[in-house]
Amino acid sequence: MKITSIINGVEQTESNGETMAVRNPFTGELVAEMQLADEAQMEEAIENSVKAFNNTMKMMPAHERADILLRAAQLLEDKKEDFARVVAIEAGKPIKHSRAEIQRSIQVIRFSSELSKHMTGEVLPMDAALRGDQRMGMVKRVPMGVIGAITPFNFPLNLSLHKIAPAIAAGNTVIFKPAEKTPVSAYMLTKLFHEAGLPDGVLNLVLSTGKVAGSTLVPHKKVPKITFTGSLTVGKIIRDTAGFKKVTMELGSNSPNIVFEDAEIDDAVERLVNAAFGYSGQVCVSAQRIYVQEEVYDEFLMKYKEATEQLKIGDPLDEETDFGPMIDEDAAERIQEWVEEAREQGATIETGGERKGTIVYPTIITNVKKEMKVVTEEAFAPIVTVMPFRTEDEAIENTNDSIYGLQAGVFTKDISRAYRVADKLEMGGVWINEASVYRQDNYPYGGVKLSGLGREGVKYAIEEMTELKFIGVRL
Ligand code: ADP
Repeated sequence: MKITSIINGVEQTESNGETMAVRNPFTGELVAEMQLADEAQMEEAIENSVKAFNNTMKMMPAHERADILLRAAQLLEDKKEDFARVVAIEAGKPIKHSRAEIQRSIQVIRFSSELSKHMTGEVLPMDAALRGDQRMGMVKRVPMGVIGAITPFNFPLNLSLHKIAPAIAAGNTVIFKPAEKTPVSAYMLTKLFHEAGLPDGVLNLVLSTGKVAGSTLVPHKKVPKITFTGSLTVGKIIRDTAGFKKVTMELGSNSPNIVFEDAEIDDAVERLVNAAFGYSGQVCVSAQRIYVQEEVYDEFLMKYKEATEQLKIGDPLDEETDFGPMIDEDAAERIQEWVEEAREQGATIETGGERKGTIVYPTIITNVKKEMKVVTEEAFAPIVTVMPFRTEDEAIENTNDSIYGLQAGVFTKDISRAYRVADKLEMGGVWINEASVYRQDNYPYGGVKLSGLGREGVKYAIEEMTELKFIGVRL
């Protein structure tokens, strides 16, 4: 299979850019050959998106945007098994998790369709201000223009749709630059939107390297907004080169989860196995630090190890598989080095710690020091640290001792304590009796500190992809 960029509805088979192979992370087999766009093609795509914004999107009424999105949601529903298989094959995500991702993706498009009809503004009481009587003022929400959407490999469909669908709902056009590892689902998604009746040029897919996107799309004068999900390293580069334009950034974290002595231990164990090891820990809000109150530490650790060792490891396409490969061998080697480094510094590997090709076995690490890389840096891998604590204050202090602040989980039956702790955690979101990894697509999702800028979650993404415009009348 050969895949290409799609500009103005046309597949770009001619390109001076190189080609790149897309491989199945589990088998190493070739999934597709990708024709990369070069700088000139990116420029062409951006010019075309500007034209589509001025000539098409500005004129398109909200009800039409809503209908197109609804048709896209229906088409994705019809093709959900095809998409799930592609995500399993190109991203190495176990098929049952891939299916769950597609289901959420459909929902994200539906939310966007609904909200495209609710871009309301307000009428201001102008006479509240001196000289304001005999004046009328209104505030509208207006689209920004061309949105540059740069996305990662880990939820190739849903995290892309968290940008594309709200952008269309709000009346923008989009340059979609998916991750190099997962372009096949992106290519299928772009075609699906065309099939749903989205006019040419409203969604332009540009398959390029990060480098090309970084040098052309990010600083481009005609692109007023970049929305990015990915690593802190790349986020920093984008922030530096984006200049004055608006940016939304969903970056990483080393997500904490606190288990108090009164928690339902079995429930916490079950949730935290999935939170740490779901999709091999390659999730922005994966549980990486688990703080357990000392009264229940031994019980928790024993049950946690036992449950982790039950995970079925294997081919992502196998219905029974809970746990598959990492995205590539480099990622697997990197985390193996981190684990070795922790071991040399005195940590105990309770289970896992081994690697076979791209598979890194689910790894629980204890006796860690808070300066160790496995604690402080984003692992984005199937490893988790478990640490005891004595008091509530100590748990809060340790949790907040991080450059990141995306989501946390707190397990306790004491409702006062739950709220008290939630208020004190420096996080974009806190879950009580749920693990850090849980996300719904309709609440504000994003981080404080170095975990990001701005929020997604359809309504909030629409706010970030529109400008407020004031119109006043002197009567
Ligand atoms: P991940 O490890 O989750 O893939 P990255 O931050 O490496 O995260 O990549 C996320 C996205 O950012 C990918 O689409 C990648 O191609 C893109 N990217 C990488 N480098 C740059 C850059 N310098 N400028 C813009 N985009 C980039």
